Amino acid sequence: MSPHPISTPILRVALDVPLPRLFDYLCGDAQGEDVGYRVRVPFGRSEKVGVVVAVLAESEQPADKLKAAGEVLRDMPRLPSDWLALCEFCARYYQHPLGEVMALALPPMLRKGKLPRRLKDKASAAAAEISRPTLHPEQQAAYAAIDAAENAFQPFLLHGITGSGKTEVYLHAIESVLARGRQALMLVPEIALTPQLEGRVAARFPNARIVSAHSGLADAARARGFLDALEGRADIVLGTRLSVFTPLPRLGLIVVDEEHDASFKQQEGLRYSARDMAVLRAKQLNVPIVLGSATPSLETWYHAQNGRYTLLALTNRAVAEAPPRVRCIDTRREKLQDGLSAAMFGAIEHRLSRGEQSLIFLNRRGYAPVLACPSCGWVSTCKRCAANMVVHLADRRMRCHHCGCESHIPAACPDCGNQDIHPFGRGTQRLEETLAQRFPQARVLRVDRDSANSPTKWRALLDAVHANEVDILIGTQMLAKGHDFPKLTLVGTLGADAALFAADFRAPERLFAQLMQVGGRSGRAELPGEVLIQTEYPDHPLYQALIEHDFERFAATQLEEREQAGFPPYTFQALLRAEAPSIDQSLEFLARSRAAAQALLDNNEQYAEHISLYDPVPMRMFRLMSLERAQLLVESPSRPALQAFLTQWMELLYAQKAGRELRWHLDVDPLEF
Ligand code: ADP
Ligand code: ZN
Ligand code: ZN
Repeated sequence: MSPHPISTPILRVALDVPLPRLFDYLCGDAQGEDVGYRVRVPFGRSEKVGVVVAVLAESEQPADKLKAAGEVLRDMPRLPSDWLALCEFCARYYQHPLGEVMALALPPMLRKGKLPRRLKDKASAAAAEISRPTLHPEQQAAYAAIDAAENAFQPFLLHGITGSGKTEVYLHAIESVLARGRQALMLVPEIALTPQLEGRVAARFPNARIVSAHSGLADAARARGFLDALEGRADIVLGTRLSVFTPLPRLGLIVVDEEHDASFKQQEGLRYSARDMAVLRAKQLNVPIVLGSATPSLETWYHAQNGRYTLLALTNRAVAEAPPRVRCIDTRREKLQDGLSAAMFGAIEHRLSRGEQSLIFLNRRGYAPVLACPSCGWVSTCKRCAANMVVHLADRRMRCHHCGCESHIPAACPDCGNQDIHPFGRGTQRLEETLAQRFPQARVLRVDRDSANSPTKWRALLDAVHANEVDILIGTQMLAKGHDFPKLTLVGTLGADAALFAADFRAPERLFAQLMQVGGRSGRAELPGEVLIQTEYPDHPLYQALIEHDFERFAATQLEEREQAGFPPYTFQALLRAEAPSIDQSLEFLARSRAAAQALLDNNEQYAEHISLYDPVPMRMFRLMSLERAQLLVESPSRPALQAFLTQWMELLYAQKAGRELRWHLDVDPLEF
C-alpha cells in the first residue's frame, strides 16, 4: 500500500483497546511537538483519550478513512520521551497493545482526560532533628559503591537478612541523590507496607517532597502525585509495582526492596514484572539500581553470581543480636494433637510463662480445607472451579477461595444422607480453636484475610499486637512481611512440607523466602527469637540451609537443579493460556496455535533451533469460575530468539479467529504455572 500524502498533519495515537495497533487521526492544529500529549479522539460511537506517539505527514491509510482528532490536551506537560520508550519496551517485551500499557501506566483520572485540582503547597517542615545512624563498615561499603555509580547503569544486589540495615543503606543513597538535585524511585511489594516505610522516609527527609503511588489511593491523589513527579516537584516516589511507570525527569536512583516478592509481577492483564521494568528503566536512563532482599530471586542471584549485577552483602544484623535459632520438629514419630506436636505446645507454653508472644504460621485460612462424608466419599467441591469448598465455621459457611462463591454447611451428606460428615484438615480458624482450648488463659488472635478484611481491621489487629494485648498470634502469609513485633520470640510453622514436593519448580524458592521472612519476625528487639518448623523431612536440604541461615547454599543447589532441568534462569519462558467453557475448546485453540508456531519455526532457521514448543496441557487448576483452562509452554535459552519468535507468533494469533467464547493471553516470564 502506498502512503497517501495529505496536507493536514496526522496524529498517531495509542488507545486503550485490546488491539496491537495504533490509530491515525487528522489534526488541523497539530504541532510537531505534540508527541506525549493526551488527545481526545472519536472511537466507534464514543470518544476516547489516548496518547500521541507520533506526528506524521502521511498515513498508510487513505485520507478519507481518517477521522478528525478532537482536542489535544496541552494542559499537562508532555509525557517525556523516556516514559514513552519505557511503555513501548514494555508493550514489545510482553507482547501487549501499547495503548493498554499506557492506560495502565497513567493514573485513571489522567487517562480519562481530566486533571486533578491543585492543592496549595504545604509549608515545608521546620528543620527537625534528624537522627541518622553511622553506617557499619559493610553498610558503608555498600553505600559507597552505589554512590560511586552516579550517572551509570549499574545494578546492585543488596543481600542481607531482615534487620541487617538494608533500608538504612537505601536512605543514605537516596540522601546523596537528593543532594545532587536528582529524584529517587523506591518500589515496595505491598501497599500495606508503605505507610510504615513512608513514615521512616518522611522522618529522614523532612524537606523533601515524597509522593506515594499505589492503587489504593484516591483518584485525585494518585493523579496529583503523578503530576508532581512529571513536573519535577517530587523528590522521592515510593510505591508498589505500578509506580515504576511514574515519569521522573531528574531520576537518579531506583531502589526495589524485597525484589524477590511475587507481587512485583502483575498476574492479570498486562503481566509485567515491575522489578524487571525497573532494571530496564535504570539502563535506559543510565542510573544505578539497587535490588534488596534477604532471599533474592534466583534470577537476580544468578546475575549477581555471573557478574552482571554487583553483589553487596550485609552479613550481620545492624543492631547487635543473634539471628533466630531455627529448629525442625520431626513429626514422623509423634502422634500430633490437633496438628500440633508436644514440642510446639511446650514452646508456646514457655513464651506464655515469660509474657512473650508466639506466632503460629499456617498458610491456609478457614476452618478446614474440605468437608467430607466418610461413608460415601463425598467431598465439598465448588460447582464453578476445580477446587474444594473451604469450611468457614466462624460464619457457618463453605466458601471457594478461588471464585468466592458460598453456600451453607449442609447438615447431612448431599449424596447419601449421612449426618456424620466432617471437616477434614486444618485451617487458621481450627488452629485458633485448638490453641484457645489448650491455653484458656491466653489471648489468641487470628490474622488472615478473613479477620483483616479491611485496612481498618488490619490496623486494629496490628495495634493489638503492639499494645501487647495478644499472647498467641495465628497468621497466614499476611503476617510474614515487614512487621516488627518486639515481644514476639517464637515463630512456629505448620504444613510447610507441601511446598517441598509441589509441581511448580519455584515452590521451594518461595518456601525458603517465606520461612526466612516469617522467621525474621521473631526476636527483633532485645529478646532472642526461635523458629520451629514442624516437618516430616527434617533432613531436607532446604530446612538444613534454613537452620544454618545459609541462603548461598540453598541458592547454589537450586541453581544446579534448574540448570540440569533447563529451567529459568537458564532458559526463558512464555506461556500461552486459553480459557473457554470446555477444556476441549481451550486445548483445540492451543493446538492450532502450536501448529502455527511450528510453521513459523519451520520457515525460520535463524531462531528455529533455539525455540522449544511443548504440548498444550490442562492447567493444574483446570476449571476456574466455570471456565476451563489450558496452557502451552514455549521455551528458549535465548531471550532475543524468544522475543523475535513471540512477536511473529502474536501477529498470527491476533489474526486467527479464536471463537467468541474463548479468551487467551500470553504470559512472558510467567511466575505461576
Ligand atoms: P533491613 O532493611 O535490612 O530490615 P533496617 O535498615 O530496617 O534493616 O535496619 C534494622 C534496624 O537497625 C532499624 O531499626 C535501623 O534503624 C537499625 N540500624 C540500621 N543500620 C544501623 C546502624 N548503622 N547503626 C545503628 N542502627 C542501625
Ligand atoms: Zn455421603
Ligand atoms: Zn470456585
